[in-house]
Amino acid sequence: MTDKDQYKIHTEPFYQAQGDEVELYEAAYAARLPVMVKGPTGCGKSRFVEYMAWKLGKPLITVACNEDMTASDLVGRYLLDANGTRWLDGPLTTAARIGGICYLDEVVEARQDTTVVIHPLTDHRRTLPLDKKGELVEAHPDFQLVISYNPGYQSLMKDLKQSTKQRFTGFDFDYPEEALEADILSKETGIDLDLAAKLVTIGTAARNLKGHGLEEGISTRLLVYAATLIKGGIDPKPACRMALVRPITDDVDIRDTLDHAIDATF
Ligand code: ADP
Repeated sequence: MTDKDQYKIHTEPFYQAQGDEVELYEAAYAARLPVMVKGPTGCGKSRFVEYMAWKLGKPLITVACNEDMTASDLVGRYLLDANGTRWLDGPLTTAARIGGICYLDEVVEARQDTTVVIHPLTDHRRTLPLDKKGELVEAHPDFQLVISYNPGYQSLMKDLKQSTKQRFTGFDFDYPEEALEADILSKETGIDLDLAAKLVTIGTAARNLKGHGLEEGISTRLLVYAATLIKGGIDPKPACRMALVRPITDDVDIRDTLDHAIDATF
């Protein structure tokens, strides 16, 4: 038996709501509807799911999806050990058995033949066939499936099938509006609000460059990194260059533009 407790979140994660998403999620969970959280990278999707799992008191099993992932990585496989073969449940199966929330992060990264294994879990059947083992797992009544999805990376090759999409309810997430984002930075890292607001201005400047040489703007996650460095005693300018500019682009002109924005702010 799996120890449920190891997947429980024991301390409240800090989550600043942007709207009515907490109530809507609770309603979706009450009906055990599958949920899709859409939005750019680092905008708070995973933190939201963590917070909801804590608030609902349910175990959370997170899987970071990637293109090499196979259905067995989700469902489980036979392992060889000294005593012969032994079945090992995958994270999706574990969540279905213990009544957890299974969070498939960046699900479009997974190949489509991998994604279809979630289908029978997301409709009235709420079952998971373990073909190799010859077992049909009936999901625990508390089980729920949540996926995250970054529409920015969407391409014809990498998208969810309509037959998968139409099994979920959806939330659109985005970077919080300026005052709220400053508040998040300040509460998350302990820097003062004025400084947080300055970091957010740089974030906004970069987000305006999206589509003009930048694939994605600066995420809330990176702003949190910059704030953390500054809180740790690093001067704002080098902290911002390191956390906000260097990771996101190698384009000399864009780097110059962002470095200037930093110099003008601090
Ligand atoms: P993703 O959207 O990629 O899942 P995360 O949820 O990991 O992003 O968010 C990245 C970081 O941004 C978090 O670790 C947290 O510090 C911060 N963050 C973003 N939005 C919020 C929010 N609404 N409340 C609290 N922290 C947030």
